[in-house]
Amino acid sequence: MTLQFQTPRGTKDILPGEMPKWHYLEHVLRDIFTKYNFREIRTPVFEDTDLFARGIGGTTDIVQKEMYTFLDKGGKSYTLRPEMTAPVVRAYLQHHLGQTKALQKMYYIAPMFRQERPQAGRFRQFHQYGVEIMGTQAPLADVEIITVGVEFLRRLGLKDIHLKLNSVGCLVCRPVYKLELQNQLRPVLEQLCGDCRNRFHTNPLRILDCKKENCRALTEEVDPIDNYLCDECKSHFGEVKALLTEVKIPFEPDKRLVRGLDYYTKTAFEIITDQLGSQDAICGGGRYDMLAKEIGGDAVPGVGFAAGLERLITVMDKAGLFPETDPHLDLYLIGLGDAARSWVYRTAMQLRRNNLICEIDYQQRSLKAQMREANRLNAGFTAIVGENELKNGSIPLKKMETGEQSDIPIEVFAGEIIKSVGRS
Ligand SMILES: [Zn+2]
Ligand SMILES: [Zn+2]
Repeated sequence: MTLQFQTPRGTKDILPGEMPKWHYLEHVLRDIFTKYNFREIRTPVFEDTDLFARGIGGTTDIVQKEMYTFLDKGGKSYTLRPEMTAPVVRAYLQHHLGQTKALQKMYYIAPMFRQERPQAGRFRQFHQYGVEIMGTQAPLADVEIITVGVEFLRRLGLKDIHLKLNSVGCLVCRPVYKLELQNQLRPVLEQLCGDCRNRFHTNPLRILDCKKENCRALTEEVDPIDNYLCDECKSHFGEVKALLTEVKIPFEPDKRLVRGLDYYTKTAFEIITDQLGSQDAICGGGRYDMLAKEIGGDAVPGVGFAAGLERLITVMDKAGLFPETDPHLDLYLIGLGDAARSWVYRTAMQLRRNNLICEIDYQQRSLKAQMREANRLNAGFTAIVGENELKNGSIPLKKMETGEQSDIPIEVFAGEIIKSVGRS
């Protein structure tokens, strides 16, 4: 039988069995972000469509092809957020966060939505974690963003991670480099792919990150942007590299790392892993000093990164890095007969109030079926209670691992269990 309703194409359920992995990653993320004094921000799942059209860039694939855009009943156009930086900057401006505290350090762990072509590992609802520091142009902020991203991956135990680093200049020096790039590529323009021939006029920097082999070969020899950075950008980039060296985070300069939109400035970076065989970016970010202005606010400098959790989980699984998390139950209480079932239920409630993970049977099943369930749930202890136990006033408690059994007087049963099995 085919069910009438299934998850929408390109989406998936995260079932209880997978949840320990998510909880583990979220726990480590929150722990690290908190230590660096980043504070969480949550914004609505949908925003004005224009926020993304302007905040991501009208010429990008995301805006042109991948947004979930809808009209509400009032005819206003909204979009499910495809990324989080524009909403965070919008919130910063809307709530004048810069007035209360010049420097804001924020993080998020949240679902995003993009109507991409479904393929392995790509989902239309996916999850990102990310950080933003707003309100400073200091190179140290760029380094802190990179550091927190690297530290997280290191703490998870990922070994083969590389940091790729570039500067994309600013509104002063980038136009000069664009012209130079066009001059150098003009002789081979006709040999570039169709996309790159368009980019030549609209966004020549993006030719450098074309994935087509032929385009890569043709751009192998072009001058890197380094030679054209203005003094300010050059000194910023130099300081970022010096600070990274100081905190012992190795990096590889990569002239192909461009972000291609005008409000991206100076630092651009990616963290790559070899774990999946190919070189996959698992984290990407950089500075966006012109973004706040682009969406209608004052110029507020910012720097941040975003990374996907689904991809990280794939990498972690492949590398076997998730800790063992057996589902665990402290105690399974088996009640046989009405009076015992009632006692068992009351006792279970009392134990749960005292922080024990406790389960009982709900369907008056046989002793055998309940024992099987206790085993399946990996219970630490079981107690079988019937008419006799109630009459004798003594409950046998069985330690499942060793099979050893001890009798506990019924009137002190809960207290004894809390003392011996309970956690503080
Ligand atoms: Zn510059
Ligand atoms: Zn190309």
